[in-house]
Amino acid sequence: MSVSKIYHSVKLEHDKCVGCTTCMKNCPMECIRVRNGKARILYDLCIDCGQCVKHCPYHAKVAQTDPITDIFRYEHRIALPAPSLYGQFRNLHSADNVISALLSLGFNHVFEVARAADIVSATVRKMIKTNPNKPLISSACPAVVNLIKIRFPELLPHLANVLSPMEVAARLAKEEYSKEHGVEIEKIGAFFITPCPAKMASIHEDSKTYVDGVIAIRDIYGLLTSQMKQEVPDEVKNMEHASWRGVNWASFGGEGSALGYSNILSVDGIHSVITVLEEIENGRLSDLEFFEGSSCLGGCLGGSLVFENTYVAKNNLRKLIERMRNREKEEGTAKVVEPRDDIEQYAPFEPREGIKLGGDISEAIEKMEKIKSLTKSFRGLDCGSCGSPTCRALAEDIVQGRATELDCVFKLKEKVEQLAREMVDLTNL
Ligand code: SF4
Ligand code: SF4
Repeated sequence: MSVSKIYHSVKLEHDKCVGCTTCMKNCPMECIRVRNGKARILYDLCIDCGQCVKHCPYHAKVAQTDPITDIFRYEHRIALPAPSLYGQFRNLHSADNVISALLSLGFNHVFEVARAADIVSATVRKMIKTNPNKPLISSACPAVVNLIKIRFPELLPHLANVLSPMEVAARLAKEEYSKEHGVEIEKIGAFFITPCPAKMASIHEDSKTYVDGVIAIRDIYGLLTSQMKQEVPDEVKNMEHASWRGVNWASFGGEGSALGYSNILSVDGIHSVITVLEEIENGRLSDLEFFEGSSCLGGCLGGSLVFENTYVAKNNLRKLIERMRNREKEEGTAKVVEPRDDIEQYAPFEPREGIKLGGDISEAIEKMEKIKSLTKSFRGLDCGSCGSPTCRALAEDIVQGRATELDCVFKLKEKVEQLAREMVDLTNL
């Protein structure tokens, strides 16, 4: 597939935006501004976390993903369901029901991403033993990886140099299918069924990706539920290949618990993740073996493109996992998954430049001083009525030419009062 360097899945539908500022207040990167009644994203800082998509009450923030009809661009079609897809359905006895429904939508084959998650877990478990940069940081959540690239570039060497389960699944699925059916890889399309927009952005930035498209869980949910009312055909039964540990990756902490280490930390919610990354940056968590950060509260089950409420989905998944564990015990089918040396990232993690303050260091320092003194001159309420998320962000916007001091309601009030006084003085002359 064709790629661009930096791609963003999250977009604004201009006509739907009423300028309410809800998205601005919920953006963890402080990269939304609302001016002239419309929101605008400063894309240099956007990590495609989807928080604005989740919080916009007018559905003006959208995540661009692919329509299901795109799969028919390929002669051979593979579905890659994220483990979080299973959490969308109540009383799911096994993944077979979901696999069968995906096949009836036009896919020729289904490769569970949870199966690839098992492989990634085994590989990361091995990596931890020899990792020199403690803690090893999970590279599974693309929004967290983007956050590190922009705000914590010193932590890039801590990121686990392993492909995401989505990418491992796509590669193995195509290789296996090609071998089994004697089909050229180019004729196979692999489509990830995603809970979040950051996955869409990540495949567009990766020139070597094996993923050809990304379909939002909520776009496919209705079609799947109607197909799931049908009986699972015999030839589809026992297609479930992942372990319950792989499926558990969908929940917050699932990746960490699959590793079997006790000295790990799992954190959900991008604001909390930022706090922990600051601690790691300051060297205060160097005794930790592994850090797993999920941008969304509840892990992937809380993604902005899922259908079900996060807590209901968590409960659905818990019950499915219980059934899978019982089956594993009764049938003695626990699998040993081996680590792989051939699933390193295709390219090293590189820092991403945020917004530059100036062309050279002296200009940047000068602007920094102006920002400091302007910030001091504001009330520090971070009320957001100026259209910037904080007083400091407004100061930066003014220095960068994106706003004026009179965007601040208090400054405007002072100015109006001063003009009124001057008019009174003039009339008294
Ligand atoms: S939340 Fe943001 S995008 Fe949605 S209407 Fe309000 S300002 Fe516009
Ligand atoms: S996707 Fe996340 S970082 Fe980007 S604008 Fe929305 S809330 Fe901000």
